[in-house]
Amino acid sequence: MNRFEGMVAIVTGAASGIGQATADRLAQEGAVVIGTDLTASATIRELNVAEEADWIRTIDQVRAEHGRVDVLVNNAGRGGSQWYHELDVEEWDRVINVNQRGTYLGMKHVLSGMVDAGRGAIVNVASIFATHAVAGNSAYHASKAAVVGMTRNAAVSYADRGVRVNAVAPGWIDTPLTALQPSELNQSYIDATPMRRGGVPGEVASAIAFLAAPEAAFVTGTVLHVDGGYRAT
Ligand code: NAD
Repeated sequence: MNRFEGMVAIVTGAASGIGQATADRLAQEGAVVIGTDLTASATIRELNVAEEADWIRTIDQVRAEHGRVDVLVNNAGRGGSQWYHELDVEEWDRVINVNQRGTYLGMKHVLSGMVDAGRGAIVNVASIFATHAVAGNSAYHASKAAVVGMTRNAAVSYADRGVRVNAVAPGWIDTPLTALQPSELNQSYIDATPMRRGGVPGEVASAIAFLAAPEAAFVTGTVLHVDGGYRAT
């Protein structure tokens, strides 16, 4: 399939996990992909999603080079497993700044160009923890609930201007992020998943690609769960 032929896509957090799989998938399907992350490499441009100046620089560069941004995937994120009573303010700010502020800044800086062009698709990466509570993970839950709220609000705000805004809500996915967690915690999530397995990054990338693609032209403001049935429990 070449669903993204002639299209330009920006993916944040593209050096690892779900972001890397998404960048690969969009490129395989014909997009010019600008993969971004905290550290530049041969295939990645430096973009700290929490820094507005980084967004301004990157969007200016991409528009100068390619003249358009058709797709933004706000994927960059960080975890956090602490309970409220032990979470210090600095860690709260770190999680909120990446997951929530980063998503806001990404949307802010692509939307004016998308509105001018009368087309665009944004896919935000939320989590099952936006809606399903597990103990701990306080700032992460808060930030991902905000991602869902921003997605729905932006979808309604820009629906009549040709811009669609959707989210995916992954369940437990085998990535470097979850590899950092204690194995008992990871196993508890898998045990709570009706399919009794974790997902792989390509399974989330498939859902992101669907939401970003022209075939999803009438889909906006939705949250597509990729969770092995976790949501249904
Ligand atoms: P990952 O750690 O493999 O990849 C995340 C990437 O984001 C890394 O390359 C990291 O450098 C980058 N990043 C972190 N802070 C950044 C910043 N300030 N600016 C730019 N890039 C930054 O993690 P992953 O599991 O692939 O997670 C990707 C997204 O999926 C995150 O938003 C995460 O919350 C979400 N998610 C993951 C799971 C899971 O089980 N893995 C489940 C639900 C949601």
